[in-house]
Amino acid sequence: MTDAALPSAVLTRLPDGTVKQVGALTGTRVWTVPGRANRPLELPRDEVRTLAPGEEKRLCAFCEDRYLETTPEKARLVGPEHTELRHVGADALHDTVAEFRRFGNLFEIVSAEYWREDHGFRQPASVVEWAQEYLSTPAGRAHIERLAAIRSAASGFGQSLEESALDLVGGSHDVVVARRHVIDGAVTDDQLASAGALTPDEHAAYLAFTVQALAEIAAAQPNAAYVAVFQNWLRPAGASFEHLHKQLVAIDEHGPQTDHELRLLAGDRHLYQRAIADVAVAERLVVAAAGGPGHGAVAFAGVGHRYPAFEIYSTSSANLPQEHTADEVRAVSDLLHALHAATGVHVPTNEEWHYRPPGAGWPMPWRIVLKWRISTPAGFEGGTKIYVNTIDPWELRRRAVESLLALRDEGRLAPGIRIGDEMTPDDVQLRYAD
Ligand SMILES: [Zn+2]
Repeated sequence: MTDAALPSAVLTRLPDGTVKQVGALTGTRVWTVPGRANRPLELPRDEVRTLAPGEEKRLCAFCEDRYLETTPEKARLVGPEHTELRHVGADALHDTVAEFRRFGNLFEIVSAEYWREDHGFRQPASVVEWAQEYLSTPAGRAHIERLAAIRSAASGFGQSLEESALDLVGGSHDVVVARRHVIDGAVTDDQLASAGALTPDEHAAYLAFTVQALAEIAAAQPNAAYVAVFQNWLRPAGASFEHLHKQLVAIDEHGPQTDHELRLLAGDRHLYQRAIADVAVAERLVVAAAGGPGHGAVAFAGVGHRYPAFEIYSTSSANLPQEHTADEVRAVSDLLHALHAATGVHVPTNEEWHYRPPGAGWPMPWRIVLKWRISTPAGFEGGTKIYVNTIDPWELRRRAVESLLALRDEGRLAPGIRIGDEMTPDDVQLRYAD
């Protein structure tokens, strides 16, 4: 398909079929060795259980019958129009069914204490009032008492109930959870409701709700340099529960990967067009596109990833997710949903968001990387820093295009997605630096 003469040498197929890749943004070295690509992607489940009546609503702490096992709810979407309700009290949690809900993570990566002790952050009056209001009902008070006991058992130190309530409602690490653990009508516990099992409209509500959460967390935590957004699906990908959810974590630095990309951008504002999009076109790695040119999204089979990975780029001139129009967010959602559906329910995945940190001086597109966590780097990788990825980008693109065409025939995808060679040159123009 190609040879060692590739000018950038980011992707080379050797005579024996070995594919060597170098990540343009990371420098990561990846080899794909022939003969390993046809191993099954899906992990076998230990045992499949038949669900008892009603069990589908209480399989884990994110399930609908167990709302009180999560922290005070910041927002939920209800009904077919996905109407937003905010700050639903403990005694009203079961009055409606949340299609999606957002609350603070009970075990934060970066805690409320971190912002208070290390940055001198004080909660604004609105958050203090919400904490007091939550404690003012018997159900709310009991809820906070139970959560505070769990936290103090885990951390080994106690707090007053008022302090606990303030930390539980005012943290900067949120979880966005979907309603279903298993699909409606599921008979067994392995019929999980993955992102690809949602309808395109449900997925769009989920994504827009997450973008809104990102904007609110960034606005509420003035000491945050960045808000990391990710989705871990299934235990091998780091998920505690097999229940669809995303997480958002405010951090006080960008992390080394974003810093590295900003250094590259200083010398080449069109880095992502030149090193990613143009290479994807030249190597026929463009998977699909959605939305209008300049206001849509395009997906590539990624080069130089430790795991098979799709890269979904917004083609908008906006940089931050929350600066995109509703239609532009919808295009990203439609494409991401399609790739989740093409991936399949039982493949562990990480979804990682990248975007320009608000304080950074260089334009950077919003992109989402979707990784198939189907292998575990081991001693070879640790010793050499060469990663063996079982599926090369061309094979990943071939599989994805085949799946997407079948899913479209089944009516599972949002309308208007261009698949594989249906792409136009405009679809692969990134406007982030315009
Ligand atoms: Zn659940």
